[in-house]
Amino acid sequence: MIITVPHGKCPRGSVVRQCDERANEVALTLAAFLPEASVYWAPSYRVEGDLNRPETRQWGWRREIQAEVERQVAGGNRVVLFDIHSFPDTSTSFGVLPPSGAVPQLVILDQPSMPHTALARQITSTTSVSLLAVLVASEINDITTQARAAGNVDAMLWEFNESSTRITHDQIGEVARVFADYARAN
Ligand SMILES: [Zn+2]
Repeated sequence: MIITVPHGKCPRGSVVRQCDERANEVALTLAAFLPEASVYWAPSYRVEGDLNRPETRQWGWRREIQAEVERQVAGGNRVVLFDIHSFPDTSTSFGVLPPSGAVPQLVILDQPSMPHTALARQITSTTSVSLLAVLVASEINDITTQARAAGNVDAMLWEFNESSTRITHDQIGEVARVFADYARAN
């Protein structure tokens, strides 16, 4: 199991948003439920280069992740990779959910070739998070795209709403528990 946080490194005291402000919090919580997972924290700021894009695939951090993916695939187990992000609480981020018009609390940028609708349903039926959007990801989300190409890899990209009025620390814990159960069951 692998957890990646490509946009989690935040400059201190910045007024302008330059990172995924709650991604580290989510990854820490998830890692607490999945101590066997390897966690990869962004070593550089997003302004230096987007670590989730094809153009940074040859950077050391990306090579380390992919090497671990390939090691785990070679070990014969199904590999589950959670790529963790967060987004600002505005309708321009991922739109709104009809008919409520609410900004989602949680978004999965899913691949039609490897859908996670059952996992999404598990979250909305067993946690207090109800505003969940399943959107189709772009192949440009390169950590998950590259990992899936390595073989038996279930790689998925989750976006958590950054506003504490949308998703609380406790709700992050609820979702992390579902993720952990899913990763262990697969
Ligand atoms: Zn991000």
